[in-house]
Amino acid sequence: MSVKGKTAVVTGSTSGIGLGIARSLAEAGANIVLNGRKATDEARAHRAEIAETFGVEVKLVAADLSDPDACHALIKEAGACDILVNNAGIQHVAAIPDFPREKWDQILAVNLSSAFHTTAAALPLMRAAGWGRVVNIASAHGLTASPFKSAYVAAKHGLVGLSKVTALETAEEPITCNAVCPGYVMTPLVESQIPDTMEKYGMDRDEVISEVILDRQPSKEMATVEQLGGTVVFLCSPAADQITGTTISVDGGWTAL
Ligand code: NAD
Repeated sequence: MSVKGKTAVVTGSTSGIGLGIARSLAEAGANIVLNGRKATDEARAHRAEIAETFGVEVKLVAADLSDPDACHALIKEAGACDILVNNAGIQHVAAIPDFPREKWDQILAVNLSSAFHTTAAALPLMRAAGWGRVVNIASAHGLTASPFKSAYVAAKHGLVGLSKVTALETAEEPITCNAVCPGYVMTPLVESQIPDTMEKYGMDRDEVISEVILDRQPSKEMATVEQLGGTVVFLCSPAADQITGTTISVDGGWTAL
């Protein structure tokens, strides 16, 4: 079954990887529900551009996914949800004793709990439609750890676990759930970590990218948002009908180390 005419809800899709995934699904013919915390002018411009470029319907639904009610409201407002991509995510870097409690709670809420709530709201719609795909954007940090990223690593490991449970609960239905685990991809989330790292190590921008960020990525290249989009489109294709409850790494060999 192709994704043509299906409705794809992509959380956190007003920038970075989510926007790339939304564009790839639109290119494949899916109607798109974009989501960000706020309906900014930039988000509205992305909505219009994707609709015009790919000739599909594109809605923009603003929702702060740290709020469980907002997660349910997003799926309700979407109206349909054949493909759910849980992509919204945030980061904070600090040693455990210094990690602000509110940052821990916020990261767990956005990076993990929101996926539980949107999945709970979307599965009944997928079951009614007789087909569904849940793709959770985890991370190489869903499979391995780094110091100073306690909340992020815990949330992403949790998201991999949630993906397995979702897959088992839907295993006998034409619904699959998998986690995609990217290594580093140059997006605003990664960009925002560069200035602090430059200061911490006394390095310039290029040194931070090659020696710190890509230190653990054997390919020494960042993945692209288009590659992430292509991976999600593949998981929505008939070739992936029996792929469920697993992880796909797009990390230039990071987790092979
Ligand atoms: P980004 O900062 O460009 O995008 C994050 C998106 O999440 C934005 O659209 C933002 O609006 C949205 N978001 C944040 N808080 C939200 C909230 N409370 N409610 C609704 N939306 C919210 O980051 P990105 O790099 O594109 O990251 C996307 C996903 O990919 C995240 O889950 C991230 O953990 C994961 N990831 C990124 C990388 C990378 O190298 N960039 C690597 C591995 C995993």
